[in-house]
Amino acid sequence: MRLSKFFLPTLKETPADAAIVSHQLMLRAGMIRQESAGIYSWLPLGLRVLKKVEEIVREEQDRAGAVEMLMPTIQSAELWRLSGRYDDYGDEMLRIRDRMDREMLFGPTNEEMITSIFANFCRSYKDLPKLLYHIQWKFRDERRPRFGVMRGREFLMKDTYSFDLTEEDAKHSYNRMFVAYLNTFARMGLRAFPMKAETGPIGGDLSHEFIILAENGESEVFCHRDLLDLPAPGLDVDFDGDLQSIVDERTQFYAATEDVHDEQEFAKIPEDKRVSARGIEVGQVFYFGTKYSEPMKARVSHPEMGEVPVHMGSYGIGVSRIVGGLIEAFNDDAGIIWPRSVAPFAVGILSMRPGDGATDAACDSIYEKLQQAGLEPLYDDTKTSAGAKFSKMDLIGLPDQIIVGPRGLAEGKVEVKDRATGERIDLSPDQAVANIINRHRHSLI
Ligand code: ATP
Ligand code: MG
Repeated sequence: MRLSKFFLPTLKETPADAAIVSHQLMLRAGMIRQESAGIYSWLPLGLRVLKKVEEIVREEQDRAGAVEMLMPTIQSAELWRLSGRYDDYGDEMLRIRDRMDREMLFGPTNEEMITSIFANFCRSYKDLPKLLYHIQWKFRDERRPRFGVMRGREFLMKDTYSFDLTEEDAKHSYNRMFVAYLNTFARMGLRAFPMKAETGPIGGDLSHEFIILAENGESEVFCHRDLLDLPAPGLDVDFDGDLQSIVDERTQFYAATEDVHDEQEFAKIPEDKRVSARGIEVGQVFYFGTKYSEPMKARVSHPEMGEVPVHMGSYGIGVSRIVGGLIEAFNDDAGIIWPRSVAPFAVGILSMRPGDGATDAACDSIYEKLQQAGLEPLYDDTKTSAGAKFSKMDLIGLPDQIIVGPRGLAEGKVEVKDRATGERIDLSPDQAVANIINRHRHSLI
């Protein structure tokens, strides 16, 4: 992409109404624009990151055996009356009437709809187990939308639903998602820790929130320090094999969100191992048994068990919230520093003198070679000052930069800069291309 053709409305000043660094940087880097409280347009740069995050989430769901579908944003009140949640959900639910005066709502989550779909099509134990998911916009009329996309009213969520014959089977589905989540966040360079959590309006008796530690996080969490040292299971994990040991390895340590925190248990941890910190909830997993299948008649028949309601769980990831969470985790005074796996463009090419024959030729050739290698470069071909180019590129946080100018080219050199370390090296244009390709091939995140 040539910057002259792109749409990147960056801001020089830090917007006064943005309280935390990720919100400030998303506005300054031209990633989002607020349309109403908690409702945002995703501008091209922001959308590219959102899509990268979404794709990692999707790949790890697929790897864990979940099957993608797509349910609508608008649901009928009737459906929610079947579970009793239409009245329980309260003011967070956006209620709408259509032209026939039918009561509708903008979905805050999809337990009712998926249970009704399951009940419609599945009648036998042979249909089990099933793991279904979608990635869809949700609306929750939050009392205090804030921190940009981190607590929006309209936000993108991945939600998976599991259907099993028994509680034991359902725990295996729960473990699948638990393990998939550890890998999902690790691929984005995030360390997310599972912590015991309250089940809230979803209901049920087993739940973990996945929390990334961050100064500006809204949640208060407490845990054993050794939990923080455990590496992600890795992408070669066998989802049909023993997942319980991976889950046990983590849940052996005390780790709780504020709502279920137990001071007495926490006090048993040696003092130097006690961590109390702030964090961002990037995902949550629930097992809730037959809470929805019972009232909504999602039953299967089994030769020995007869006709039984299925055991269910639900598993959310805050796809749009993660974009803010990533910036909270990866920034410095100059701006954002994207992990390579989620960067909106892999590399920036900065032309120090557009219009100069040699500079244009070198930039064009680097641009083409990177594209041929499957990397997406953002080529700053605009006629602005060098200083403005450097600060814009640092602000938007592309992991690597290639700086091309007539002076260097006279000696056969361009400059390659690593955004995270600030390290700069002089290389020939061809070496620079090879170097960048290498960095991306060998980068784990
Ligand atoms: P919270 O406690 O932060 O309000 P929640 O527990 O109500 O969230 P879930 O129902 O567990 O949310 O939704 C799954 C995921 O969706 C959450 O883990 C979070 O990452 C994301 N999410 C929830 N509410 C919002 C929101 N208002 N804006 C952005 N993301 C959200
Ligand atoms: Mg939650």
